[in-house]
Amino acid sequence: MPSPSVLEFPIPALRTGEVREVAPGIHWLRMRLPYRLNHVNLWILEDGDALTLVDTGMNMPETRETWEAVLTSTFAFRRVRRIIGTHYHSDHIGLAAWMCARTGAPLCMSLVEWATARVLAIDATQPFLDVQQAFYRRLGYDEERLARLAAVGNAYAAKVIPVPPQMVRLRGGEELAIGGRAWRTIAASGHSPEMICLYQPELGLLIAGDHVLPSITPNVSIYPAEPEGNPLGDYLASFAPFLALPEGTLVLPSHGRPFYGLSARIRQLQAHHEERFDKVIAACAQPRGIMDLLDVLFEGGLGDHERVIASGEALAHVRCLQGRGLLVEETGPDGVLRFTAA
Ligand SMILES: [Zn+2]
Repeated sequence: MPSPSVLEFPIPALRTGEVREVAPGIHWLRMRLPYRLNHVNLWILEDGDALTLVDTGMNMPETRETWEAVLTSTFAFRRVRRIIGTHYHSDHIGLAAWMCARTGAPLCMSLVEWATARVLAIDATQPFLDVQQAFYRRLGYDEERLARLAAVGNAYAAKVIPVPPQMVRLRGGEELAIGGRAWRTIAASGHSPEMICLYQPELGLLIAGDHVLPSITPNVSIYPAEPEGNPLGDYLASFAPFLALPEGTLVLPSHGRPFYGLSARIRQLQAHHEERFDKVIAACAQPRGIMDLLDVLFEGGLGDHERVIASGEALAHVRCLQGRGLLVEETGPDGVLRFTAA
């Protein structure tokens, strides 16, 4: 991974629960996450006599308490006009329904992200669990690991309040008037299927969601719902509108600190994935399963949650290489998928 030293971080780090104005009327709020990735950034945009919120954080008591404190002190005299959810992941919209109920404001999301969030949050059906087991069995999970996954069931549902059954649809390429300025929506696929990013030219700001992060590589994974998908192909194809933004754009990412150097960061991410493609191809000189590729792509022991994400990421690299005609797939007599360089 190339060093992010070509990036500039003009704004000092923020503690969780703190709010800081990063541009006129644009506020950064950091919330804690119970993971190795220990925080998520949320954005509060002054919007006339109201506020537009971008993401709400995870469904945890302390996140709700922080919001109560922020909405009743720093922004006591403003109502919330709308809540934008960048994408369906629980650290971004886990509290969206609570915030909608608390403020009466609508949730604004892309249709795919909203529908994914809604379905995943309420799917407690047997077919969901069956598909999950079959998917990870094909990736080479042993019976012990499969049993642990079955015991967790629908991990997403446990972490979120289901998004409301009604929303305002956002699409890429639209303009949203916020605080008297036009923000352009940019839809980005890869880390999630139809993430909404927001760009404001006069302020030179890009709210990037998880599409481009300064210090970690956005995770691009395949999950049981779409085993044949190619989200990494989508991801690598999605950078064009971001590379067209001016060099002086300040990127407001969902994790890490605001930074300058968007195009440099995108080139690092592209190089990172090409490096990983090379490793996968080299390893697949002989047939390899996803569990073999975890050792090639990831260092150290993986916990259950990390292994699910890592296996999905390894599969995403494989599917992208299959799309380029560089890997072929076979299912062994054990029912496990294996891949060989073409
Ligand atoms: Zn995410």
